[in-house]
Amino acid sequence: MSKSPIVFLLGLDSACWEVIDCLGENMLPTLYSLIDEGVAGILETCHPPSTFPAWKCITSGLNPGKIGVYGFFDVNTRTRRIRLNSSKSFKGHDIWDYLGKHGLTSGVMNVPGTYPPKHIKGFIVSGHPAIDGSNYTYPESIKAKIERLGYRIHPKKDVRTHPEEAVEEIVSMIEVRFEALRELQESYQCDFLMLTIFYLDNVQHYLWDAEAGEGSSLVNKVYMKVDTELSKMLRFLGRGTNVFVVSDHGMTRIRGTFQLNTWLSNQGYLKVERTKPLKGKILRRIGIGRIYELAKSLSIDKILLKFIPPETVRKWAESAQKDLTPIEVVERMDWERSKAFSANGNIYLLDKTIEEELIEKLLALTHPKTGEKIFIDVRRRDEVYRGHDILAPDLIPIPRKGYNVHCRLSRSTPWAEENSWKATHTRDGILIASGANIRKIIGKINASIYDITPTILKLYSIEPEEIDGRILPILK
Ligand SMILES: [Zn+2]
Repeated sequence: MSKSPIVFLLGLDSACWEVIDCLGENMLPTLYSLIDEGVAGILETCHPPSTFPAWKCITSGLNPGKIGVYGFFDVNTRTRRIRLNSSKSFKGHDIWDYLGKHGLTSGVMNVPGTYPPKHIKGFIVSGHPAIDGSNYTYPESIKAKIERLGYRIHPKKDVRTHPEEAVEEIVSMIEVRFEALRELQESYQCDFLMLTIFYLDNVQHYLWDAEAGEGSSLVNKVYMKVDTELSKMLRFLGRGTNVFVVSDHGMTRIRGTFQLNTWLSNQGYLKVERTKPLKGKILRRIGIGRIYELAKSLSIDKILLKFIPPETVRKWAESAQKDLTPIEVVERMDWERSKAFSANGNIYLLDKTIEEELIEKLLALTHPKTGEKIFIDVRRRDEVYRGHDILAPDLIPIPRKGYNVHCRLSRSTPWAEENSWKATHTRDGILIASGANIRKIIGKINASIYDITPTILKLYSIEPEEIDGRILPILK
């Protein structure tokens, strides 16, 4: 008989009420039983509403300013260097660090941003992007154990080119992840367990359809599989466990697209030398991360890149590519002549005197098709981040829900439609909590991703030293 952990935290990357409400309790009986017995809430995410840094905000209770990460990559405007973020880039303690200090054991699986795996009291199976398939677990010995169950980091099929087959594969990967977690729990007897299902994000971005909720779409299939697996997991855990289900951001259909760097370039704020050869030094520094970016532009990022020689990927990408990826924009930027650039949807000012005019222009922008304003606000970094460092962006434009703001640089207009994504991130994620120590509350509560860590740690009677969230009033 396995020990019941005090908390099981299930992360569903990009899960949203839009789909859950639509599917209802007939399609998602397990999630609805948790809602009926406990709490449901809207979980407000960080700025930008991005997988990196959002999962770290959830597991540390700290805002991006304190963890020092603002996206998949960050730019140091002083050194003019790009940093591709990994688990080593984040500052601040995670839930499992606090628990470890108190002699408690954690099992963590697939949380984005945990690669390379840190040495913790318990085990870690690293999450997205974890593109190096070799050392993604701590301790290393558990890798063989979970791979015997069929564990794989990424699916082989791409949802864009083989949607049905890719979703079948993702559905089976979800089953294996839950199974692997149970098997590891049998031997580790952890006090805290966390599993994140990342590929829901991928499926929603590319396969969202306006009829999501009618049970026929591939998106629904993933939600329903999670529900079935969660049901098995609850039986395994027993009644003593408090279950939290959270997402790092929500998702919604794209109403319009805006290319921020293309706009900055057209306005004369950003100067990029498109043909500037990439320095060997930069290539070496960026390494596999850059290859990953290039591969993304070719729609092959979901294939295990280790099977394709990096040089081949680079050649394909550079010959086929018309747009510059966000990383290439920074690499090829003329730092002397540029006044501003965008990364991760945020804006970095190289000339602070343009701040006011830039805010005014951005707030006035309306989408030519919908006639709606693109941004509901443009905030300065002091208004958004607490304890920020040199990597913090200067301006944080907040897009209206459904507007997809990205940072590629194209030769066309900033309004050019995104041709592969159908849905984009929103600021409202989900929170569902139920268990022995959780109160029953009717109606949805409002919570922030910073509240998850202090609330969970309270169940272990641990008070984190520095936190941006609060203990949610949902505990008995
Ligand atoms: Zn995400």
